[in-house]
Amino acid sequence: MAKKGIINNVGTDPNKILPMSYPWAREHYKSGVNNNWVPEEISMQLDIELWKREGEGALSPEERRMILWNLGFFSTAESLTANNLVLAVYNHVTNPESRQYLLRQAYEEAIHTDTFIYCCDSLGLDPDEIYNMYETIPSIKAKDDFVVDFTKSVYDPNFKTDTPENIQKFVHDLIGFYVIMEGIFFYAGFAMILSMKRQNKMVGIGDQFQYILRDESVHLAFGLDLIRTIRDENPEIWTEEFEADIRDKIKVAVELEKNYVDDAMPNGFLGLNPQTVKDYVEHIADRRLERLAMPLEYNKESPFPWMAEVIDVSKEKNFFETQVTEYKNSGSLDW
Ligand code: MN
Ligand code: FE
Repeated sequence: MAKKGIINNVGTDPNKILPMSYPWAREHYKSGVNNNWVPEEISMQLDIELWKREGEGALSPEERRMILWNLGFFSTAESLTANNLVLAVYNHVTNPESRQYLLRQAYEEAIHTDTFIYCCDSLGLDPDEIYNMYETIPSIKAKDDFVVDFTKSVYDPNFKTDTPENIQKFVHDLIGFYVIMEGIFFYAGFAMILSMKRQNKMVGIGDQFQYILRDESVHLAFGLDLIRTIRDENPEIWTEEFEADIRDKIKVAVELEKNYVDDAMPNGFLGLNPQTVKDYVEHIADRRLERLAMPLEYNKESPFPWMAEVIDVSKEKNFFETQVTEYKNSGSLDW
């Protein structure tokens, strides 16, 4: 067993955060703090008005379906992510500065869970309907089942990262949590809702998704740094066979995400069609492969170049004045 490293570090006290070995973990923590927000800062008034409108200017049935599908997916996906972090990842990542980041991320997942409570409450949606969609809507269930199945090693109470084989399983499951769930399965939803926001529809939900997207891009950046570090410290785990397996699974995840797009918006509507969103999913999957130092699969240009700006532009330029700017003191989400 390795004595030094981000996992299995038996040589240091998990309570001593200084001196740090992994400054990137600290940087992601600070990026998270710089992104501080709560859902109540965003007014839902225009959304409520539009959601209830009938006749001229009302949302089309397909627009409503797309919104409901995304609320249905994210409302439970955020809790699933929080549970994964606290019950599975935290236990095995003993490095103190990484744990400080994981605590921050867990807090952000609580904010995201709260966002969907706020959306359901303000639009007057039936919570039984929304919170059961991960069981009643096959395209949503398929994504959640895939992640749960993907990450079952670390949920075994006897699981330890004590052998190369088990470290490989741990990295496999981290790829399930970070790269597939947060890095692929969230992104069609981000693109659909933020496209709608660009047409000035459901702008409150749009702003909330924009904040969530910024948080998630840091979660993903942390996850990829964590995976890269474990891989660097345990190079024997990254075999050709392992990489081929990960590649196959990312391809399956991309198909599940594309099915989800077809289900959420079967025909598309003014300004947005399902094929464009599916191209975006492929583009995003290539970015994840790139960060895992793996060859690209799809070679698709981004049909939504503005999505990159949404992630990067500092909040104070893009949002109504909120307390967020007070937290902003350094750094940006440059990955
Ligand atoms: Mn989240
Ligand atoms: Fe997250």
